[in-house]
Amino acid sequence: MSQRIHNFSAGPAVLPVTVLEEARNNLLSLGETGIGILEHSHRGKAFLAVYEETEALCRELAGIPDDYAVLFLQGGASTQFCMTPMNFLTPDDTADYLVTGSWSRKAIAEAKRFGKTHVVCTSEDRNFCYIPTERTNSPNPAYVHFTSNNTIYGTQFRSEPETPDGAFLACDASSDIFSRPIDIAKYGIVYAGAQKNLGPSGITLVIIRRDLIERGNPDVPTMLSYRTHAEKDSMFNTPPTFGIYLMGLVFKWLKQLGGLEAMAERNRDKAGRLYEYLDNSSLFRSTADSDSRSLMNVTFVTGDAEKDKQFIAFATAEGLDGLKGHRSVGGMRASMYNAFPADGVDALIDAMRRFETDHA
Ligand SMILES: *Cc1c(COP(=O)(O)O)cnc(C)c1O
Repeated sequence: MSQRIHNFSAGPAVLPVTVLEEARNNLLSLGETGIGILEHSHRGKAFLAVYEETEALCRELAGIPDDYAVLFLQGGASTQFCMTPMNFLTPDDTADYLVTGSWSRKAIAEAKRFGKTHVVCTSEDRNFCYIPTERTNSPNPAYVHFTSNNTIYGTQFRSEPETPDGAFLACDASSDIFSRPIDIAKYGIVYAGAQKNLGPSGITLVIIRRDLIERGNPDVPTMLSYRTHAEKDSMFNTPPTFGIYLMGLVFKWLKQLGGLEAMAERNRDKAGRLYEYLDNSSLFRSTADSDSRSLMNVTFVTGDAEKDKQFIAFATAEGLDGLKGHRSVGGMRASMYNAFPADGVDALIDAMRRFETDHA
């Protein structure tokens, strides 16, 4: 097998090697069953055990209260952009959105199809390089929606936004879920496409308060109703079985490393080293305001598009892949989710140092 390189991709992203090895070993036969994990019926005993373990580990890691359902859905976080308002917003009601990047813009655009929307705050004036602190809610919102980590712009909320009485908090946590402890009780719904911090693409984790599910609009298409999936434990139709399996392995790995608290410590350390370097560099600088910086996606530039390009080519040749920034920010983006190893961060800093010496 060829050498694995450092993969800074924003998603799908790097997974723990031990997880990949275990999955590989179970591709031809899950345990002693003689049937590979991809080939097991979702109704069979072997897969049900996998499903139950994944859900139990998820609840244990995040301390999810019993009055929340854990759902494993398909359609990515992007489908949640419409599912949340479809189920919880009526034409006469207003949903509040904190607009901190492209993903929240896409989320609010879907909500507009089902009811009224209100922008609590936006950082669009400075190309989303910060998390606004001045925020105004509408008088009586159905819910307040935010994107906890802005994958493209490299910003992240430090704490949950305020939720007026009677409203619930909805969060797109696709790019920082389980990267730090989360107090689920503060939320009505948290959703995340798995391909950044939790597993492969093709599976979306949804954690949702049960009383909301019951209250939800009864008149939405079957597959887009949370009630459908909650009543059938995500098995109304064929669930993403491999994704559930792999997510379970990632949860086991997280637990072995000490859970979300330990993961937060690791993530602070990894991103901290890179930001410290950036703050002292005479060539590179971070694009996000320092009080809004993401520990998951570190965005940076030289200030000269040509030099950025040269650096990306230099880094690629050094085995540091996926550093090209999103076109809406330019420059570079180092995505360093849970599974991204600390030595990869050191390798990046080392490459930046050498490039800086030659190009400053
Ligand atoms: C990647 C990402 C999405 C899109 O997720 P899909 O699973 O591709 O639909 C949405 N929100 C955030 C914050 C993301 O990082």
